[in-house]
Amino acid sequence: MAVDSLSSGRGYYQRVRAYLFRKAGGSSDVGSRQVVTVVLTDRYIHVVEEKLYFSPEVVRIVPVHGGLSWRIETPALELEITQGSLVEEWYRRVRGRQKRQGLRTASLIVSAVVGLILLGLLVWVGWWGLRQAARVVAQAIPHSVEQAVFQDLIPVLDAQGEWQPSQLPDSTRQHIERLFAQLRAHVDLPMSVGLYFRSMPGVPNAFAFPGGHIVITDELIRLSVDSPYYRDIAGVLAHELGHLYYRHSLQNLSMRILLTILVDHSVGGSEVLREMSERMLLLHYSRGMETEADEFARSLLDTVGISPCYLARLLRDLAQLSGGGGQVPVWLSTHPPEQARIDLLCPGDGDSETP
Ligand SMILES: [Zn+2]
Repeated sequence: MAVDSLSSGRGYYQRVRAYLFRKAGGSSDVGSRQVVTVVLTDRYIHVVEEKLYFSPEVVRIVPVHGGLSWRIETPALELEITQGSLVEEWYRRVRGRQKRQGLRTASLIVSAVVGLILLGLLVWVGWWGLRQAARVVAQAIPHSVEQAVFQDLIPVLDAQGEWQPSQLPDSTRQHIERLFAQLRAHVDLPMSVGLYFRSMPGVPNAFAFPGGHIVITDELIRLSVDSPYYRDIAGVLAHELGHLYYRHSLQNLSMRILLTILVDHSVGGSEVLREMSERMLLLHYSRGMETEADEFARSLLDTVGISPCYLARLLRDLAQLSGGGGQVPVWLSTHPPEQARIDLLCPGDGDSETP
């Protein structure tokens, strides 16, 4: 019953006659039967008289009478086409296209996933590589050079008004200086290390700068949980000595310089990437560096006979302070008081009041 058939340059086009049955109550045998013209193309089935269009994806297409006829079923109607071979040809074409599309979609998804994994791996390897390179660069710089380059750092920061002179009583400072000297005597670092007391209102913090400078603020010392002995503050200083010993800030600085060079050379200094890298470097020390400094502090404190549990207690108290909705102490924001750190410093300490 084919009326006409042509293959236009744009795809398949087949015009056939068909019997149309309207389903009533879900049964095809009930209802009227009429002869209609059906257009079969790659993308749709068009019942001309009814002005109906269906996508081949949403209908059921089955051969009947041993393939002599084919039936196209929708929930509301049925088309029976007796020119079976023409429908079969069209059906193969349409199903083949659907399969190819399915495969294309699947392969696109797989490619996207693999691509994302590769990209993540590349960034991770790149970042890791950069860290390793920064480590090597930092270790390669002689301590004498580091000291010479950064010898004026503290006076410069003083002049910039980053902080004010310490307001602590002399006796407190002298006591902490004695603790510090005790710790320093056991650190194998071939350069002089200076301890500086400064005041930064609202900023309880301690810093280890390249060139052998440790700055601690009055505001952190006032949060001591072991006044007037300050064994927890000794723990903070031991931790900062760890950062100096491993040259962590120098590594971060090397990383910044390496990253700036890489960004400038590889992407022509894209502002977005530059800003991103700057932000990443604002993260201060990496978690690995913090663990290194904590392990260093624990061992150094053990050596001088101070329990690392004082530092663990300070960390816990600071965490409670920040958990109580108050201002987050800055030393915490750069040194997260995770339970893992407390456990590392003072295993099995629990909540005991006396370390
Ligand atoms: Zn630290």
